[in-house]
Amino acid sequence: MSENNYVKDFIVILDLEWNSGFCKELKRNFNEIIEIGAVKLDSNLNTVDTFSEIVMQKFNMKFNPWVQELTHISQWELNNAKENFKTVYKKFGDFLGDAVLMTWGSTDLSVLSDNCRVHFGTAKPLFVKKYCNLQTYCAKALEMYDSAKQMGLSACCEHLNIEVPEIPLHRAVNDAEVSAMCLKAVYNRDVLDSQTALTDDEFFRRMSFKPKYLRDLDNPLVDKSLIAMKCPVCGEKMRQASELKFHNRGFKGDFICDACGEKRTAMFIYKLCFDGVKFKKKFLKPVVQGEETKTGKAVRMIKK
Ligand SMILES: [Zn+2]
Repeated sequence: MSENNYVKDFIVILDLEWNSGFCKELKRNFNEIIEIGAVKLDSNLNTVDTFSEIVMQKFNMKFNPWVQELTHISQWELNNAKENFKTVYKKFGDFLGDAVLMTWGSTDLSVLSDNCRVHFGTAKPLFVKKYCNLQTYCAKALEMYDSAKQMGLSACCEHLNIEVPEIPLHRAVNDAEVSAMCLKAVYNRDVLDSQTALTDDEFFRRMSFKPKYLRDLDNPLVDKSLIAMKCPVCGEKMRQASELKFHNRGFKGDFICDACGEKRTAMFIYKLCFDGVKFKKKFLKPVVQGEETKTGKAVRMIKK
């Protein structure tokens, strides 16, 4: 058993639909939540309750036709919603109780955070105490986890041989129900506990942190001692033969091996993440002979 035995009682799988566009009142792009859907599961993963509400819009944003098509929520439904975000979300808070919140991917949580910022003045979503990313959970269970690429809900169903019922997807509560089917297929309580986090202030600071690439070599966060390459042919230390220049995501420079004559271009990447700087280095693929650079200068072929 894992130490943090969070999944004692209930799990709530939340799915949101939102309208996106430029918001004149906020003077920025905004994803305004239009629907909150959720299912509540007991410790045996039986559905014990569902939540489905359309949210009255606060801002005068054009209802994005793409969103209308995707969600099948009509302008009429939206215009006839009786309760605003604050009211609906407080009702959701009662529904959630002490349950572990799960969403498919982290986007729903980010959108929820931004809506809470706008409506309640706090980017920390109210009522949420424990959180587990269901998309990450399923991808890891399938041994298909890739931090750079999120697995879609339909793709996950396919991998798990789950036949999606004849219900329209992208309606919040239906998506939550299908997500619950995926969870049931790969459920392991200890694993789920280990991937469940307390949603304290640090959790949301971490969530809203945007990683960035360091582009200034003189930045004290750039550890220059890491700039070194070993020759891929003979293993000797290579000599730096050109100044490093920032290009794309990292610093690029030429290296020469004095032992065997090998010439290569290398890239050093410093990515500032919440936990500190992540460093990566690699050789770039050799340029093919005769290929022209943007400046029109022919590039010498780099010996293999
Ligand atoms: Zn060499």
